[in-house]
Amino acid sequence: MAVTGRFAPSPSGRIHLGNILCSLLAWLSARQKGGRVVLRMEDLDTARCPRSYARQMEEDLRWLGLTWDEGPGADGGRGPYYQSERTALYEAALDTLEKMGLVYPCFCTRAELHAASAPHREDGQVVYGGICRGLTPSQIRERSRLRPPALRLRVPEEELAFLDGHMGGFRENLARDCGDFLLRRSDGMFAYQLAVVVDDAAMGVTEVVRGADLLDSTPRQLLLYRLLGLPAPAFFHIPLLLSADGRRLSKRDADAGLDALRRRCAPEEILGSLAFLAGFHPSAEPRSAQELVREFDWSKVPRSDIRIPEGLF
Ligand code: GLU
Repeated sequence: MAVTGRFAPSPSGRIHLGNILCSLLAWLSARQKGGRVVLRMEDLDTARCPRSYARQMEEDLRWLGLTWDEGPGADGGRGPYYQSERTALYEAALDTLEKMGLVYPCFCTRAELHAASAPHREDGQVVYGGICRGLTPSQIRERSRLRPPALRLRVPEEELAFLDGHMGGFRENLARDCGDFLLRRSDGMFAYQLAVVVDDAAMGVTEVVRGADLLDSTPRQLLLYRLLGLPAPAFFHIPLLLSADGRRLSKRDADAGLDALRRRCAPEEILGSLAFLAGFHPSAEPRSAQELVREFDWSKVPRSDIRIPEGLF
């Protein structure tokens, strides 16, 4: 089957080394199999993701030589390629799940959710205890008058297991480890979990390469693929990049941002160094994305987080 990979950045700031590593591996993994690459901008949170940031990311990816066959500026007939313009598709998926009786309104406030009694996941998210699961129609009517509800999916008491192409086996009992999760926030914004599934399926994505911080989102997404009757892609989760002092990179790390990097490095220097850190390029010698296709080897990529040595970039 023809492979379609993708980049799905959230344009909430300038692209950083972690995003670039992810895009590079997604690109190499697809290209090595003769596959195509789609670019989709995950800008559901339009206040944090203005179009100017998305345009800058597109320009940065082009500068790096990480080109896409389909996406902004390359219409493949499955656009628009900005999630903020795809709301009708998320509405339709929500409608399908609602007709199956799997969606319910939730009126809990943030403070209620974070109440001490709620167990927390490792990433600090709350396991939803199901407070609004059993509301009666009259309770729902009454509460709706006070505030608009969020919408949650009823999850089954079931262990969901999958084989990650890079990290190996992963399993999660959604009822125990996650709880009924959000499909739409109370302000109307669709949740990442729903949008990513609808879009990857609609855009024919067969292979998802992304940071290990999203490994535990995958069972939620696999459940949605199953409920919506959509084919799920293969997943490859990659180690996260850490700064020299061991912190997870974020868009606030100016040194790792492309703004600073572009002033001191050529694209080949950035890609060669990242390929070296990712274990499949023997030195930090500059390389273009195209030149790395031959060298790329999943089996050499580490599984634990990668610290960027001082002075490499
Ligand atoms: N938009 C997400 C991010 O930038 C990635 C989502 C995904 O790859 O599934 O973190």
